[in-house]
Amino acid sequence: MTAASLPSVRGRLTADAPLAPLVWFKTGGRAEWLFEPADGEDLEAFITALPPELPVRALGLGSNLIVRDGGLPGVTVRLGKAFSTVTVDGNWLLCGAGAPGILVASTARDHGLAGLEFLRGIPGTVGGAVRMNAGAYGREVADTLCDATIQLREGRVRVCDVGALGYRYRHSDLPDDAIVTGCSFYATPGDKAVISAEMDRIAAEREASQPLRSRTGGSTFKNPPGLKAWQLVDDAGCRGLMVGGAQVSEKHTNFLINTGTATSADIEALGDEVRARVLANSGVELEWEIERIGKFLEKAA
Ligand code: FAD
Repeated sequence: MTAASLPSVRGRLTADAPLAPLVWFKTGGRAEWLFEPADGEDLEAFITALPPELPVRALGLGSNLIVRDGGLPGVTVRLGKAFSTVTVDGNWLLCGAGAPGILVASTARDHGLAGLEFLRGIPGTVGGAVRMNAGAYGREVADTLCDATIQLREGRVRVCDVGALGYRYRHSDLPDDAIVTGCSFYATPGDKAVISAEMDRIAAEREASQPLRSRTGGSTFKNPPGLKAWQLVDDAGCRGLMVGGAQVSEKHTNFLINTGTATSADIEALGDEVRARVLANSGVELEWEIERIGKFLEKAA
């Protein structure tokens, strides 16, 4: 498919765009098309006119993703500056889906609004957080989200109340090709100093326990009910385990890291090896929390 056969845009449309630089693991293939819309109207017009057979997938900051080495077919949509604002209206925070979680948390703090401190420690965008009901320290998106604006693949834009998103632990019912473009949170008034202290506590705790400066994808597996995934992985003897250039973090065993030479296939194979060892050791079947998307690299015959 050539650029001429795609709808014209005001933003940026790039063919065969490398995705590894855009994701935390720094691995993976290319996007057939990478679209960075100028604004919501640009996105809506493009999606509406796009041939229906072309798949569409949003990309945030790539902090919860393995993009497979064969890349992503169709259009990958990355929301830039126009979608990165956070404004406050009374107790409401109105957020563009491209805004990083830390911006939401610090804007809420600056306005004396509590309940969003947990986003301080989640290094993705609001769109990614809304998609997977991100959470930490006993709070999650579903607790404070009011509604989300969604660009649907067939072209319609819908505002969905939180109740319509089918939230469960680290899960929403949003279709894979739906793009969150914005949302509103309702926060409660709080003491700025207390909010600030809680955010500092979260930052310090993360620094001490997680490999934040590594090429990683956050928690690899969901915590099974009543259990800790990291503990199961540790008990199965997987701390430091390697496949190719991928390694189970020595610092936090629910994190996989790219030591520098990993491919996405290495990271995924390591995750599956860990799952097999945990199953053999404890009988528990771990479920991936990190999303794995795209095509496997075809091996030469
Ligand atoms: P991406 O990784 O880019 O994408 C993840 C999924 O969301 C994909 O399916 C993608 O298609 C979809 N998506 C992204 N943007 C949109 C959008 N605008 N509309 C629709 N779908 C979209 N997560 C937690 O919940 N709690 C934690 O405590 C936590 N700690 C982490 C710590 C570290 C060091 C790291 C690296 C990650 C951590 N994560 C945690 C995981 C990650 O930060 C969250 O899942 C985050 O919400 C992902 O956002 P993102 O923008 O990076 O999404």
